[in-house]
Amino acid sequence: MKVFKFGGTSVGSPENMRSVMNIITEDGEPKIVVLSAMSGTTNSLVEISNKLYASDKEAARELIKSLKNKYVEVVESLYHSENGKAEGHKIVNNHFDLLDQQTEGEFSTVKEQIILAQGELISTAMFTEMLKENNIKTILLPALNFMRIDEEKQADLQKIKELIKPVLENAGQQEIYITQGFICRNANGDIDNLQRGGSDYTASLLGAAIDSEEIQIWTDIDGFHNNDPRFVEKTQRIDNLLFVEAAELAYFGAKILHPLTVLPAKDANI
Ligand code: ADP
Ligand code: ASP
Ligand code: MG
Repeated sequence: MKVFKFGGTSVGSPENMRSVMNIITEDGEPKIVVLSAMSGTTNSLVEISNKLYASDKEAARELIKSLKNKYVEVVESLYHSENGKAEGHKIVNNHFDLLDQQTEGEFSTVKEQIILAQGELISTAMFTEMLKENNIKTILLPALNFMRIDEEKQADLQKIKELIKPVLENAGQQEIYITQGFICRNANGDIDNLQRGGSDYTASLLGAAIDSEEIQIWTDIDGFHNNDPRFVEKTQRIDNLLFVEAAELAYFGAKILHPLTVLPAKDANI
């Protein structure tokens, strides 16, 4: 089964989410789809955590409120049925209630991780609901049940392999298996993450874990360029790269790929 990953821009608006739905259902082949948080959300969640570390609860609550308003608007245009909209609002209310709860009492790293995880948890829940509204056979696989890092905070591929197997077996035959990028659990079982931009890494780890024939990373640019288009004019796409070359570009800061993404794919020759 192939693994597809879509980043923040790709799920950044109802219109883009609908494009993703068309892309992943076009060939009718079952696939695992890894999604990021909607663009801007993780930055907002980091900002909320920073306010709470600075004991500025009021500012944190204001930020949560304005982020919620954006999601309420998304729900109104993402779903066409009354039932779809109701389910969408339920998802938003649940996750924002959880965010509000993190502002109570003493702040901690555990609370910070709960906050940072909400972006991917909301985007995947909303997206799965949209697929269902469009009669696509789908299931949401919670990444927190199988994505693991070890004591050294390194991805634990062996553990991921062990954990994903029963999850997929129990999921039954589906057209689309959705999961969250970025988020995982650490060796203590607490919520953690694969660092900023980590959804790419989730996709390659999952691809390696299920011995996938292909991992596709979709984003807002037509491929790897010979330079960073945000800083250099008239960059050109590079159509073929060795694993080591892609890894080197990513390692030296090409934002297009999380620096560790290439490794699991290279080791499994995907
Ligand atoms: P996503 O949200 O889909 O993960 P990112 O914003 O993380 O997308 O990465 C895609 C962006 O990476 C592109 O829009 C581009 O501006 C930037 N980028 C930086 N270096 C490169 C490069 N060498 N080739 C292509 N894109 C690059
Ligand atoms: N949402 C996370 C981030 O913004 C992970 C990702 O998008 O890859 O860093
Ligand atoms: Mg990225």
